[in-house]
Amino acid sequence: MSKLQPVRGTHDILAEDMRLHRHVGDTFATLAERHGFQEMAPPVFEFTEVFRRTLGETSDVVTKEMYTFDDRGGDSITLRPEFTAGVARAFMSGGLAQLAPLKLFTSGPVFRHERPQKGRLRQFHQIDVEVLGVPGVQADIEVIALAADLLEELGVGSDVRLEINTLGDPESRDAYRRTLTDYLRDFAEKLSEDSQTRLEKNPLRIFDSKDAGDQAIMADAPLLQDHLNDASRAFFDAVLAGLDNLNIAYEVRPRLVRGLDYYSHTAFEFTTGRLGAQGTVLAGGRYDGLMEQMGGKPTPGIGWAAGVERLAMMIGRPPPPARPIFLVPLGDAAQDPAMAVAQGLRRAGHAVDMGYSGNLKRRLARADRANAKAVLILGSDELARGVATFRDMESGTQTDVPLDGIVDSLNPYL
Ligand code: ATP
Ligand code: MG
Repeated sequence: MSKLQPVRGTHDILAEDMRLHRHVGDTFATLAERHGFQEMAPPVFEFTEVFRRTLGETSDVVTKEMYTFDDRGGDSITLRPEFTAGVARAFMSGGLAQLAPLKLFTSGPVFRHERPQKGRLRQFHQIDVEVLGVPGVQADIEVIALAADLLEELGVGSDVRLEINTLGDPESRDAYRRTLTDYLRDFAEKLSEDSQTRLEKNPLRIFDSKDAGDQAIMADAPLLQDHLNDASRAFFDAVLAGLDNLNIAYEVRPRLVRGLDYYSHTAFEFTTGRLGAQGTVLAGGRYDGLMEQMGGKPTPGIGWAAGVERLAMMIGRPPPPARPIFLVPLGDAAQDPAMAVAQGLRRAGHAVDMGYSGNLKRRLARADRANAKAVLILGSDELARGVATFRDMESGTQTDVPLDGIVDSLNPYL
C-alpha cells in the first residue's frame, strides 16, 4: 500500500464536513457550559494500565481494539479509546478530587482498531461529559437532559430515541450474575467464543454481543430487572420519574448493557434507525465503582459520549458560513488600498475574501461561488476618484462608495 494513503479507518476532514464537525463541537460546548459543565482535555495517550484496569479485561475495547505500543522509553502506551478512564485518572492524579462534585466536558479524537465501515472508524471523534462525586439521581437526570437538549439543538431530536436500563448496585448484580450463569451453563457450547470467555468473567456482557446466536440465547435469559434489591429499584424509579418531570421520553430496555465493565445503575443510549447497523449515536451510564477499581477513593460518577461522525451523518449539512464581502482589486496600484479596506472590514466583524487575480468576469464568478453578498471593485478609475464600486450580488445594483471612511459608510448595506 502506498505510504501516501491515509491509514484505513482514518480520514481527512475537509471543507463542509469540517464545518459540520465544528458545529457539533461548538453547539456541544455552548450547551454544556449552559448546564454548568467545565471543559477539560486529558492527553491523547495514557499508560496502557489506565485503560486495561478500568475498561475491564473482557471488554471488546481492551481485548481487540486498543492501539497499544511501547514507546522509546519502554513504557506501554495506549491511544485513548474513550475518555472516561483518562478523566478519572486526571481526577485522581491531578488533585481534582478536592473540587468534587465536578461536572466536566471534553472532546477530541479517540482510537479503536475496529473493522472500518460506515459509521465505524479507527480514528473517530467523541464529545463527552462526566459528573464526578454526585451519588444521587440528579446527576443521572442532568446528564441525560443535556444529551436530549443537544440532540434537539442539532436538529436530530425527532430521529433518536432514548433507551434506558439499570444495571443495579453490586449486590443486585452479584445475585443476578449467579442466576444468569446458571441459565447460560446449558448453552455454554452454543455461545460464541467471545461469549464463552465472558461467561466466566462477566456474563452480563453477553447481552451486548453482536453475534446472532448469542442474541437468540439471551432473548430468553432471566433479566436483572427481576432481581434488583429495593435500593436499586428505588434509584431507577427516581431516575425515570426525573425524566418524566422534564418530559424526556424514554423506553426501558431490560437487555441494554454497556460494553465496558465499570457501569452500575443507570445505563442509556440514544439510538436511531437512520444509520443502519451503527445506530447508537450517544451512550453512557453510571460508574460508581470505577475510581475504586483504579485504586482511588470511592467516588460516584456518571457520563456519556457521542460519536461526532455519527451525529454529523444524521445532521447532513452545517449551517451556512457568513456570506463574505468579496474584494476585487484591479491592477497593482489597487492591491494595497484593497488590503487595507479588507482589514478594516474584518476588524469591524465582516467576513471578507479576496479575488486575487484573473479578469473581472472570472473574479465575479469566484465571488458567486463563495456566496458573496457583495463585491467591492477597486480599479484604476475608482482609485483616481477615491471610491470603490459596491456591487450588491442579490440585486446586481452598483454604487460608488468613498474610500475615506468606507467601513462606516458600508455598514448600512451589510
Ligand atoms: P458500538 O456498539 O457501535 O461499537 P460502543 O458501545 O463501542 O459502540 P461507546 O464506547 O459507547 O461505543 O462510544 C460512544 C459513541 O462513540 C458511540 O455511541 C458511537 O456514536 C461512537 N463510536 C463508537 N465506536 C465508534 C467507531 N469505531 N467509529 C465511529 N464512532 C464510534
Ligand atoms: Mg464498539
